[in-house]
Amino acid sequence: MEASDTAADAASTAAEDSVTMDKIVALCKRRGFIFQSSEIYGGLASTYDYGHYGVLLKNNVKHEWRRAVVQERDDVVLLDAAILMHPKTWEASGHLSGFSDPLVQCMGECKRRFRYDHLVEDLEAGGKPTDHVVCPVCGGELSEPREFNLMFETNMGPVKDDASTIFLRPETAQGIFVNFKNVMQFARKKLPMGIAQIGKSFRNEITPGNFIFRTREFEQMEIEYFCAPAEAAAKHKEWMDARLQWYIDLGIRPDHLQMRKHEGDELSHYSSATSDVEYLFPMGWSELEGIANRGSFDLTQHAQFSGEKLEYMDPQTNEKYVPHVIEPSAGADRGTLAFMVDAYDEESVEGRERVVLRLHPRLAPVKVAVLPLFNKDGMPEKARALYEELRGVMQAEYDTGGSIGKRYRRQDEIGTPWGVTIDHQTLEDDTVTLRDRDTLEQTRIPINEVTGELVKRLAADWKTPKLT
Ligand code: ATP
Repeated sequence: MEASDTAADAASTAAEDSVTMDKIVALCKRRGFIFQSSEIYGGLASTYDYGHYGVLLKNNVKHEWRRAVVQERDDVVLLDAAILMHPKTWEASGHLSGFSDPLVQCMGECKRRFRYDHLVEDLEAGGKPTDHVVCPVCGGELSEPREFNLMFETNMGPVKDDASTIFLRPETAQGIFVNFKNVMQFARKKLPMGIAQIGKSFRNEITPGNFIFRTREFEQMEIEYFCAPAEAAAKHKEWMDARLQWYIDLGIRPDHLQMRKHEGDELSHYSSATSDVEYLFPMGWSELEGIANRGSFDLTQHAQFSGEKLEYMDPQTNEKYVPHVIEPSAGADRGTLAFMVDAYDEESVEGRERVVLRLHPRLAPVKVAVLPLFNKDGMPEKARALYEELRGVMQAEYDTGGSIGKRYRRQDEIGTPWGVTIDHQTLEDDTVTLRDRDTLEQTRIPINEVTGELVKRLAADWKTPKLT
């Protein structure tokens, strides 16, 4: 092994040692990122509400996704389809008959329910036999696995009968497929082209858990990229590379990411090839995003069930075909969690412990905190004026509460990359101290240069700082 590998291994081991899911959950609660839903009623299992900083962070994740897959490309357009869809959609997509997980229940003491495939995977990972699987909690016998459909069912309108049954969408993708014709008509684009959508999805997961990693209500960021059948394999590869690079560009350490190819029996009914971007979460390697080659499955099915022709005519060759589809499908909540986990760091500075979220500045909920050293002598006025200038161009915070050290710690914990301190010298020469969250370097700059300097830094490339 080369020396650089050893150093990278050591760094990643140290990071993994310091971050646990419990620490992330505690930080999220302490700083108001994410709360248990309906907490005053005792909470609703595995359901979470995002507070101020959580909303800002998740919005930034979604914004960066939109920037990368729409704004910085010529071939992808946006869509925002309704959550409620015609029930035939789910017949055509195969979700009604096939979107299920194998459920087993403990018939011993604890009566808990599990996903059978997860129990088998856990045993296999531990090198244990899988011929007689028992309850991992109490050792009781398990029921025979039965397929449990994950779609949430509800009724539309005042009459509750079979005809009124509809479903909360379990993925945003189908909203894109059923709009293929509409979008092609107005997008004025040729294939290959993609349709991107961010929105809520719902799955009645048997075993939700690991905080916001697996919940029953979550947000997805999905692209359906339509292309000629002959191009599909190459486009699949291009999207795999682009999506992996997106996480790296936004600060996730490359050695905490991997691309894992699905084996034959793991492939979904619609997919001819799928690879997952996986992240090294505290509970181990887990899926962040799936990138599937769905072939022509979806458009063919919807054409058959709706009677509409969902084809494309190549304007050069006049050849008609059903486009093939590459689908990069990411979770906004899972992504947010991964960015937080990877950015979490603890270090000792001059004998004092600090927790710091080393988030990429573009993801950080707050970009800059303006901190008057004292709440008197004209400092608040100067500070307030700078804050009002800054907040016109970026999320800023004005903080007068507590000692300066305490205020820095608070900003470090929410990941604010820069702090500007207004002190007595500011009153004399109009300079301020600009503090860097990661290097802790403090530089003195003219107050009228602060906004321009931070705008420049936000646009600049950024490398993950070395973790302690
Ligand atoms: P898993 O195997 O983890 O259940 P999946 O393969 O069923 O996920 P996909 O159907 O490929 O997931 O969904 C695409 C993405 O949507 C996932 O990579 C993940 O980021 C997100 N996602 C899926 N299910 C959930 C969930 N229950 N909670 C949070 N995010 C989810």
